[in-house]
Amino acid sequence: MSSYLSLLDATITHLEALQAKGVRTVTVSPETLQLFVPSPRKPTATPARSASNAPVGRPAASERVPLEPLSPPPAPSPAAPKPTAPRTAAAAARWNLAAQSAPAAGGAGLPPLPPPLAGPARAVAFETLRKKVLACVKCAHLANSRKSVVFGVGNLHARILFVGEAPGADEDVQGEPFVGKAGELLTKIIQAMGLTRADVYIANILKCRPDTPGQTSGNRKPTPTEISTCIPWLQEQIDLIQPEVMVALGVSAMEGLLGKLDVNISRQRGSWTSYRGIPLMPTYHPAYLLRNQSLSEKRKVWEDMLLVMERANLPISEKQRAFFLAK
Ligand code: SF4
Repeated sequence: MSSYLSLLDATITHLEALQAKGVRTVTVSPETLQLFVPSPRKPTATPARSASNAPVGRPAASERVPLEPLSPPPAPSPAAPKPTAPRTAAAAARWNLAAQSAPAAGGAGLPPLPPPLAGPARAVAFETLRKKVLACVKCAHLANSRKSVVFGVGNLHARILFVGEAPGADEDVQGEPFVGKAGELLTKIIQAMGLTRADVYIANILKCRPDTPGQTSGNRKPTPTEISTCIPWLQEQIDLIQPEVMVALGVSAMEGLLGKLDVNISRQRGSWTSYRGIPLMPTYHPAYLLRNQSLSEKRKVWEDMLLVMERANLPISEKQRAFFLAK
């Protein structure tokens, strides 16, 4: 590997590590940027990873290179000029990052998704799984305190899977996720997307309500041990449903899916990551929107849902796009 590509690889690795910590931009001096410009006498052998064909110009001042978006440059509209190679070293770095970087993903170390099961076989496998989960007592303290195991609800062939945290009191009583006030809000969001609860699948990372000994009301976050004990059930649900897109509702859902505890949902919402290769959109939990009634926070969730709809190739009307603009 040429020294240029070694430098570029090391830089990409460093930037990805920064991004995983929540850093959105980095300041790069003109001198550093110049290092990304390959020598014209030593063009690289791998044009996809280099900017050797680019008409690179020296930047006049230091530039802040955004780490987002990391998705490839959007397809041009018919009226837009044809994309050309980046014109500056900063753009070259951005171009290469956009082409190669992937956000921190969840499910690392898990086996790839199995081949999808056809309709009847999927239904049988799902029912078998449901019976196993309903009988689960792996967390003795939760098995003793729960009223029901909240397995999940929705379409076994759903294109969108919503993942929440854990059952609350209402869910524990009814045995269905998202049926309290937060659930009603999630239902409204799903309906605003032009769907019903029966079109999607809704599940939690924890299937039993976290116990609250000595309390008569209120909920608590699942512990890391509880999550790691229970999440294999969700993984099996995902193996069977194989949704096109997943939505993580809140911090705990993201932490459970990513297997780490440093999720900053305010920073990470609105940006795609993935779970075992499935596009994953983090967004706020509906309960947060109930606590924080500001229009700006609701609008953020709706913007996230528009991204989900685009990713799932759902039709989006002008009314839906302007949903919050009109308010
Ligand atoms: S929380 Fe999950 S792993 Fe624990 S007892 Fe309930 S179903 Fe089993």
